[in-house]
Amino acid sequence: MVVLYDDQIIEREQARIDPEDRAYQFGDGVYEVIRVYYGQPFYMKEHLARLQRSATEIRMNLPYPLEQLEQRLLQLLQRSGLQEGNLYIQISRGTAPRNHAFPSNARPLTLAYTQPSPRPVKELSEGVSAITTEDIRWLRCDIKSLNLLGAVLAKQKAVDHGSKEAILVRDGIITEGSSTNIFIVKDGVLWTHPANHLILHGITRQITLQIADELQIPVKKQPFSKEELFTADECFLTSTTMEICPIIQIDGKPVKSGTPGPITRQLQQAFEKQIALLQSR
Ligand code: PLP
Repeated sequence: MVVLYDDQIIEREQARIDPEDRAYQFGDGVYEVIRVYYGQPFYMKEHLARLQRSATEIRMNLPYPLEQLEQRLLQLLQRSGLQEGNLYIQISRGTAPRNHAFPSNARPLTLAYTQPSPRPVKELSEGVSAITTEDIRWLRCDIKSLNLLGAVLAKQKAVDHGSKEAILVRDGIITEGSSTNIFIVKDGVLWTHPANHLILHGITRQITLQIADELQIPVKKQPFSKEELFTADECFLTSTTMEICPIIQIDGKPVKSGTPGPITRQLQQAFEKQIALLQSR
């Protein structure tokens, strides 16, 4: 398996992480996951723009220009031969003697690799179950940071309950999922939390909002409560790896009839059309 290490593509076995790498000690870095269909990256520029923004928000300079990173990632993709799966990229603030404050002269370390992974077709067709749990994360969830313990603990709680996702609740308001954005449909209107510091500004969330606009589905980018979640007509999650996936059960209770709803299906179909476009490239 080949990996991108700084700006070189090397064998995984040759990549060396220093014990004092700040990603390892502090989770001090940022990351992205880009979906690959038919050997092509999906919305790569949007992901790289978010990576740049995350780095800026934690006051970290990228080690080399974004255009160079894009070229290296395309080379990595080609070398790996990946057809369907994920492209993972992380940038650590670098290696320095352990001290919380920023090091003065560490070089940020880029690491990227591909992971084969089929589309979650069963979940997309049948829907998934979720639980609700308290959102215990920090107040800068808009930064795609390597600090993921809040998400890890929430996701494990979902898994412990035999569910796919944990829907996070902060002060009675639904923010997002542990690794997804959450939407509900109520009386024909699509609701999702506004893109502020309490959620990750998901690329798939953004694509979904564009599709909704094209399909003339009314949208409210407004917070909704746990009570509104439980009385929703439809519910779905969005993410790079899960696409637009129906949620049919929450905390053991069915969402409406307990089957994927018509607006969710409409959005899924339009999303699939975008994927299919990559096939002919
Ligand atoms: N929210 C959180 C907390 C996430 O970690 C993710 C993805 O990993 C998302 C939302 C979905 O974002 P995207 O659609 O860009 O994958």
